[in-house]
Amino acid sequence: MPEQYIQVAIPVPMRQLFTYRVPETLSSPAIKVGERVAVSFGPRKVIGIVIDAQAQCDFEVSKVKDITTRLNDNFNLSQSLVSFLQLCAHYYHHPFGDVFQQALPILLRKIENITLSPPMVWQAQCPRDDTNIILDKLKKKAAKQFALYQIISSHHGISWVELRTLGYSKTQLNALQSKGLIIEKEQLAEQYTWQEDTLNQADRLVLSSEQAIIVSAINHSLAQFSCHLIDGVTGSGKTEVYLQAMEEVLANNQQVLVIVPEIGLTPQTLNRFEQRFNVPIALHHSGLNDKERLATWLSAQQGSAAIVIGTRSAVFTPLHRLGLIIIDEEHDSSLKQQDSFRYHCRDMAILRARQLNIPIVLGTATPSFESLQNALSGKYSYHQLVNRAGKSNKAKIALIDMNQQQVEFGLSGTLKQEMKQTLARGEQVLLFLNRRGYAPAINCQECHWLAECQRCDKPYTLHQKQQLLICHHCGSQKRIPPQCPSCGSIRIAPLGQGTEQLESRLEDLFPESSIVRIDRDSTRKKGELTKLLQEVSDKKHQLLVGTQMLAKGHHFPDVTLVAVLDVDGALFSFDFRASEQMAQLLIQVAGRAGRASKPGKVLVQSSFVDHPLLQDLVHNGYHHFAHQALTERQQARLPPYTFQALLRADANYPSYPEKFLRALTLQSLDGCEFAGPVPAAMEKKAGKFRYHLIIQATSRKVLHRGILQLLAQIPDNEWLGKVRWSLDIDPIDL
Ligand code: ADP
Ligand code: ZN
Ligand code: ZN
Repeated sequence: MPEQYIQVAIPVPMRQLFTYRVPETLSSPAIKVGERVAVSFGPRKVIGIVIDAQAQCDFEVSKVKDITTRLNDNFNLSQSLVSFLQLCAHYYHHPFGDVFQQALPILLRKIENITLSPPMVWQAQCPRDDTNIILDKLKKKAAKQFALYQIISSHHGISWVELRTLGYSKTQLNALQSKGLIIEKEQLAEQYTWQEDTLNQADRLVLSSEQAIIVSAINHSLAQFSCHLIDGVTGSGKTEVYLQAMEEVLANNQQVLVIVPEIGLTPQTLNRFEQRFNVPIALHHSGLNDKERLATWLSAQQGSAAIVIGTRSAVFTPLHRLGLIIIDEEHDSSLKQQDSFRYHCRDMAILRARQLNIPIVLGTATPSFESLQNALSGKYSYHQLVNRAGKSNKAKIALIDMNQQQVEFGLSGTLKQEMKQTLARGEQVLLFLNRRGYAPAINCQECHWLAECQRCDKPYTLHQKQQLLICHHCGSQKRIPPQCPSCGSIRIAPLGQGTEQLESRLEDLFPESSIVRIDRDSTRKKGELTKLLQEVSDKKHQLLVGTQMLAKGHHFPDVTLVAVLDVDGALFSFDFRASEQMAQLLIQVAGRAGRASKPGKVLVQSSFVDHPLLQDLVHNGYHHFAHQALTERQQARLPPYTFQALLRADANYPSYPEKFLRALTLQSLDGCEFAGPVPAAMEKKAGKFRYHLIIQATSRKVLHRGILQLLAQIPDNEWLGKVRWSLDIDPIDL
């Protein structure tokens, strides 16, 4: 029998596959693409994925090693997933071994045997004589337990991971269990099929004609590739469109992949999926442990999960019978991974839909310029929802000129007045300040010395409660100096205002109102965010202070006044994407106002109210602004009209990255234009000096070819050993 060779992807940072031999003892049954095999690589033993099961051996045969073992478990990759990951690696020019490393659950990258305990789900017990009496009592005395029972009893089985993500606790579960209301059972690993009671009709809404047209357009395009952009203001009923578009896919016994920026931040969205469909839903997000992640992966691959809801990396979940992909908040920058394998989830999801010949739906109130341009040019089906669904009206945005106002603690007189009136009506106020901590800097009032992080050359943020100076760029911490290290003065004072300070100032200004702060610091503890959000909806707090965490899809029916305290930072950035991001954030924050029947008001404070960008956004809306900005990008030959890549380099010495990039020969790269090398927007970060080279082309093909030529030069670069480099395709920050 001839020797059998295979090509394997191995998690090492080398841009190649590796050839191994399959010894006869391991050759039967035949090895397949996607299998996991253990191989030795240098002194290490690692897991490799078989990419080519019948490879030629181009090496001296005696040098080729045998594979060590085959992992005959349930966790081999499908051919389809392997091809998809190859497409991703190709698109990003990223080492395939690293792509698979990052795309797979951690446990699948390890050599140890995996034992997953069988998946368990909670179910309601059959009602007994006293069930109704117990439930009545719960309804009055333990609303949360009652709500938990309701969600469990509307399902054939719901997992602890789902319940936890929805904000319920083990204590609440145990309480229901000890009352004999619920029971934990093993979930059958059989393929999901549509049943008569899969769809919960009760809260299904009658679609507006606008919505119905979109659902039918999506349903008409099932089983073929198409990309739909739903461009609809906050509250216009996009989620309802997703839900109803999913019905037909689920009825065909196919699976749906739903991607949201952050599940933990918006349990309400998950709740709506749970309430509508009585099907196994698998979750994928950062709040899961390794075994839970693998369980999601497996249930998706085996087809027992009907819906997978997840964040960014859920795009790599193997779905055995995937019929539809939905990306909510497609403009959100958290969809792009910003280190090592820098992929954009939306773009990879589109690639996947194309590979599988299925439709994909992108939804947002503030389309990314990329998607908007694709929609306007006819590449995507473009659907607009211009009115808010139900009774609510669009909130009005007004600018407040800070130069004309008495300002106290960052609050203008007009804003304070509006806050008082809103609070007097018993409604809630949301203040948005995208700066956490007490103050963004501290300095000496005598000699103007500024406390700076040595590793980043940026001011430290003062965190008063923790009594610490923290660098928000590299995370380093320092005690607050008792006196100025430069002149010895003890007059050291905070400079500027962050959310922590705003919260304490508001306590003095509005002593009657309860204030809640929602940012990364105040919600660090597990379950804290859900708790705070619940308190807001229970109206325990009247004043909400927060960072962009509060801008995401929350639904606060009683918030009728939203104020953006400081919008100016983004107006004068040199990054051409800053204005797009500022506009999206502003409109998203504004979208939190007046979501129920009460009218909402949005106030934006600025010292530059005449800035054309602000004027356009406020008076003409996001779309006018976006069209205008797109025209400018076209004239300036910037993305999305051209395609960019960034070759990044950093090192401990400032001159190395620049020298590394300068040593590349760029003249020969036909059709590509270059800018740089230039220092990154933050030249120094965590002790590293950072430079980059921008490569731009008018077509993806030309860019791709140029990059290949550039990459080919790197192994011979004389500075190679002194720098760390990486490639960023379609970069979104410079
Ligand atoms: P979005 O996802 O665009 O923010 P949602 O789907 O969450 O919008 O809808 C916003 C609100 O309007 C929700 O309370 C929802 O129940 C309601 N809604 C959506 N569609 C309809 C409809 N066709 N009829 C009545 N109410 C609707
Ligand atoms: Zn730092
Ligand atoms: Zn000093």
